[in-house]
Amino acid sequence: MENLTASEIAGFGVGAVLLCVTLAAPKLDSFIALSQRRTLGMCKRCGDLKMIACSNCKGIGSIRKGSNFFSNMVDDFYESMEDTPKPTPMEPCVKCQSKGRTACPECSVARRVTQ
Ligand SMILES: [Zn+2]
Ligand SMILES: [Zn+2]
Repeated sequence: MENLTASEIAGFGVGAVLLCVTLAAPKLDSFIALSQRRTLGMCKRCGDLKMIACSNCKGIGSIRKGSNFFSNMVDDFYESMEDTPKPTPMEPCVKCQSKGRTACPECSVARRVTQ
């Protein structure tokens, strides 16, 4: 009878621990991931790629050339002269030197601080 009670208590104990672990698991997981990332020195913004997609050209590396009224008129004029339609004029992105990526600001800041 005593043995049964003890194992019952142990069962309750294990059940309670399992319940606690299950409830705490997501929190614990994110906590570990966060602390791990911090320990590894990984960047929250770029995942340590040191690069992020260029916000100016959306990572394409080139942007559509100015769509002001005058250039549209010129384009229309030349299009009416030519038989084949021109491809959309693109110009290289100056922000990322048409790479489509820019250095992660968070990483460059962190590097500046640590060095
Ligand atoms: Zn760009
Ligand atoms: Zn970064």
